[in-house]
Amino acid sequence: MKFKTDRIQKEFESNQLPWKLVRIIQMIENFCLAKYNYEITITDILRTQEEQDAIYEYSDKYREKPWKSVHQVWRGVDLRTRDMPSEAINEISDMVNKIQYDPNRPEKKSCIYHNVGAGIHLHLQCM
Ligand SMILES: [Zn+2]
Repeated sequence: MKFKTDRIQKEFESNQLPWKLVRIIQMIENFCLAKYNYEITITDILRTQEEQDAIYEYSDKYREKPWKSVHQVWRGVDLRTRDMPSEAINEISDMVNKIQYDPNRPEKKSCIYHNVGAGIHLHLQCM
């Protein structure tokens, strides 16, 4: 497993992520190595309020009513996809979205392939 920065590696190794999210990452790591010999890269874990504000700096919706990210409370992890086999992106999304995010909010997903400003990536989250 690779990390975008030393800070992200330290966050990962600090054991503050929920066990469920760690198991999801391990599952993806094993899948990508076994099927594609591809090593995943974690690009974001914990986010400060300042970093959250900076990401959505140009969003009118955010400026009007700022929202918190799961990244601010150790419940979100981002994976790089620009060097990931494209088939793997769909396979990972399907696999992880079999895991229910929140029984009270079935519309919420555990894995989202999206771009919030800093580039497209796989976002993983858990309750
Ligand atoms: Zn994310």
